[in-house]
Amino acid sequence: MIKLSNKEQLNISDSSFLFEQINYETLIQSLSPIVLLYATNRVYHDYMLQKETKPKYVKINDNFEVEAKNKMVDLKKIAAQKYNYAIMEFVRVMNNKIPKENLNNFYNNINELKIKDNCFSIKNSVFADYDVKRNSIRLFRNDFFTVVYHELLHMASSNYKNKIRYSGFRQTKGSNSIGEGINEGYTQLLTERYFGHVNELKGIYEYEMHMAKKLEEIVGQRKMENMYFNANLKKLVMELSNYSSEDDIKKFIANVDFINVHIKNTNPTPLLKNLLARSIKETNYYLFETYLTKLKYKLDNNEIDSELCQKLVTEFALSLGNTAKVGSIKYETLSVDYITETISQILNNNEKKQVTKYAKNNPKV
Ligand SMILES: [Zn+2]
Repeated sequence: MIKLSNKEQLNISDSSFLFEQINYETLIQSLSPIVLLYATNRVYHDYMLQKETKPKYVKINDNFEVEAKNKMVDLKKIAAQKYNYAIMEFVRVMNNKIPKENLNNFYNNINELKIKDNCFSIKNSVFADYDVKRNSIRLFRNDFFTVVYHELLHMASSNYKNKIRYSGFRQTKGSNSIGEGINEGYTQLLTERYFGHVNELKGIYEYEMHMAKKLEEIVGQRKMENMYFNANLKKLVMELSNYSSEDDIKKFIANVDFINVHIKNTNPTPLLKNLLARSIKETNYYLFETYLTKLKYKLDNNEIDSELCQKLVTEFALSLGNTAKVGSIKYETLSVDYITETISQILNNNEKKQVTKYAKNNPKV
């Protein structure tokens, strides 16, 4: 039995209506070890954590076709801006590297973009943000060049309609938000892809970026970038529903959101650590199984042969790895046994031994 101090009991009655009504001592004795995990002074906090990992059944809104009001960049106006060099470079790369059909949000926002520096934030970890409603980038630190291209990509992939902020793969209405994790990961992926030559800040949103990269391998780069720049989360869900259920897709998105919020916690409570472990495992299994389903489909349609299928599955599984290390904490991602079993089941052949050998000789952590 867990003995609780007075302080802890006080906190429980403070934060939980249920516990105020009953004899706490009796309750504790009747609880199973699993439930005891919750019977700490963090009961409310832990309950909220649990709730956070549940798929958010906030409605994923239909995206509307974004049209550019005009397709001109007012270079004179940009030249008069304080951070003109960075914005000019952004405009140059967007015009040269990004297809025209992906530039509607960019054209709608670039000319009236406002940049506010020396802003104050109570959150120490926030460097900068972009608000589509105000079409403004706020800087909380004076190191503009470390964050500018990431924020400009948010600008080029956002619009605001009917009180909903559509930003890349994120949708926000009031305090409800979905897709932040995947959106931040993909924004950073594109920052490094297109602005790696000038961008100073690397190593942020690493895990989210890894998830977004794997998702892009399933969806395809051209489609994924198009959906991102047109802020079309709905289309991403529809695309993935060719290979997995809508509930699983939402669960995946909610899991990456949860990881995004908590992964930087270097000293997680046991419950948070368990939930992070579960979310990390579930996201990896989701990606692996979705990719596998897509390949199986191609195999059935003779678009690929079984040898290529096996090679691709193995490479994908190895890129997900068996563990993910966050700070000093190791989380399991996929088990080698599971991978080998699944591959042999899907391909219905006897290559199990070889794959295990390959995986063991190419550990990826
Ligand atoms: Zn961001």
